[in-house]
Amino acid sequence: MILERFRLDGQVALVTGGSRGIGLAIAHALGEAGARLILSSRTPRPDAVYGLEAKGYEVHYIQADLGNSADAARLVEKAAAVAGRIDILVNNAGISRHGATETFADTDYDAVMTINVDSMFKACRAAIPLMRGQGGGVILNIGSISGLVSNIPQQQVAYNTSKGAVHMMTRSLASDLAPDNIRVNAIAPGYITTDMTNGGLANPDWAPTWMQMTPMGRPGSAEEVATAALFLCSPAASYVTGEVLVVDGGYTAR
Ligand code: NAP
Repeated sequence: MILERFRLDGQVALVTGGSRGIGLAIAHALGEAGARLILSSRTPRPDAVYGLEAKGYEVHYIQADLGNSADAARLVEKAAAVAGRIDILVNNAGISRHGATETFADTDYDAVMTINVDSMFKACRAAIPLMRGQGGGVILNIGSISGLVSNIPQQQVAYNTSKGAVHMMTRSLASDLAPDNIRVNAIAPGYITTDMTNGGLANPDWAPTWMQMTPMGRPGSAEEVATAALFLCSPAASYVTGEVLVVDGGYTAR
């Protein structure tokens, strides 16, 4: 019964940045596998919630701005209060900022590091005692190929640095938390069609380079990341921890 091992019936999954893009696709995948969903983002009750409810999934929504990293712990605590437990934490919310390093604004650097790294750390830290008390859990962090290679032609030192930190945070937590039966993994997507990349994919100075450097010659879809997420969140990945799973159409193979 191999396919049974991809089921998540009754498990509670908190997905940050679940209102659109990759986070929303992950929510759909986890919901289809039977998970009870808690979505979070800044938008007051986004349309995404209704789309998930229409499919018959249990969905709760908690508004939180992870630009204030103290809100990350509050979000985890609220989610646990709403659903009674958290089995799966998907730290997906993230932002990118581009620009030359020597003129890169402090506010942009701080925003990227706060949302992509600090809030992720604080959400993980808040989830640990809950998961330990339940006998285990799964944390999935969304990193990037930008944590593995320096993308061109755009300059984005803060984003690249933040995603390198996500990957190392993932490995550190996986090592620390394995005795607690908490698995911690990351996904490193390449160029995926979402609001984050729409501008770049329409930019004639960027998109041709992006696609030339991607052996498959096309951007990925959010669903193509979500299937990898389902694997890592499910018992199918029961012996996988500390992994950074690259989903990039071959970009980092070159
Ligand atoms: P997206 O379409 O821009 O969605 C970002 C999500 O994060 C939205 O749900 C957004 O919701 C939420 N968010 C943004 N700022 C937030 C804040 N301050 N507090 C709480 N939530 C916030 O981006 P995406 O492409 O799906 O990216 C998702 C993750 O994948 C990110 O970590 C990104 O770095 C990573 N990634 C993306 C790509 C790609 O090519 N798209 C590649 C590699 C890695 P609200 O606006 O409602 O708050």
